[in-house]
Amino acid sequence: MDGEKIKDSAMDLVLNVADYYFFTPYVYPASWPEDGALRQIISLLVVTNLGAAVLYLGLGAISYYFIFDHNLMKHPHFLENQVWREIKYAMTSLPVISIPTVALFFTEVRGYSKLYDHVADSPLGWPGLFLSMISFLFFTDMCIYWIHRFLHHKLIYKLFHKPHHIWKIPTPFASHAFHPVDGFLQGMPYHIYPFLFPLHKVLYLALYVFVNIWTISIHDGDYRVPGALTSVINGSAHHTDHHLFFDYNYGQYFTLWDRLGGSYRHPSALMGKGPHDLIRKLQAEGKLGNDEANVTDFCEPRSKET
Ligand SMILES: [Zn+2]
Ligand SMILES: [Zn+2]
Repeated sequence: MDGEKIKDSAMDLVLNVADYYFFTPYVYPASWPEDGALRQIISLLVVTNLGAAVLYLGLGAISYYFIFDHNLMKHPHFLENQVWREIKYAMTSLPVISIPTVALFFTEVRGYSKLYDHVADSPLGWPGLFLSMISFLFFTDMCIYWIHRFLHHKLIYKLFHKPHHIWKIPTPFASHAFHPVDGFLQGMPYHIYPFLFPLHKVLYLALYVFVNIWTISIHDGDYRVPGALTSVINGSAHHTDHHLFFDYNYGQYFTLWDRLGGSYRHPSALMGKGPHDLIRKLQAEGKLGNDEANVTDFCEPRSKET
């Protein structure tokens, strides 16, 4: 680590690597210093967009091919060309979301956050890293719960959040398919945390990858949750009910705030009334593919949707 540049950002770790291997030798003129503000902003835009696309498409594809149950595509609520539409929507939104995100990354790179480089800088040493991991998850879970509930408010819903609810039976590619305002608002807690609390920058990058994996995993149609955790962890079964029944399970990792906020719903997939059960029932009745299929036993009408 050279001591010349301000070193209080996780993104400068990424920027340093990108500068060293790519931008400095191949892209920018030698006369443009690495810590020039405009250069940093352009580099952050490139790195953020590439990173988001690689995480979303790469992890989404792994999940789609190896975890997602393709049987779900037979569900009456699965849309025509849905996977392609999810990818197209997400890939159009992500570059727009990257603009305010890069503004926050830039203030980080300029040293305004509480990110630190070394474990020795942690107020509590190694246990401090563990504590910040736990508090990051609880803080962002709480913020996302309330932001998500706010986005469901009848005056706001149609403006920003409705596009994410087009997919009633989501695939892993629905995970990042948000209106740009929706995507930025729900991602904001991750960016705000290191401005409020001390956090090791490598841990921050690891948590950033983790939240992307988690967001994909709650859309992957794999409804299994280890037995004892079913009522504690907000998994794919819980979030699928959010897409199907709308007013329940707003949380991200935990069921905590849904329980406190009175919006918890025990997943229908875990009670024999989930999407797979409907597909099996319709197949047994020979009704699959029939537009007249009666799905009301399984899917309550969603009053606020239209
Ligand atoms: Zn929602
Ligand atoms: Zn979702």
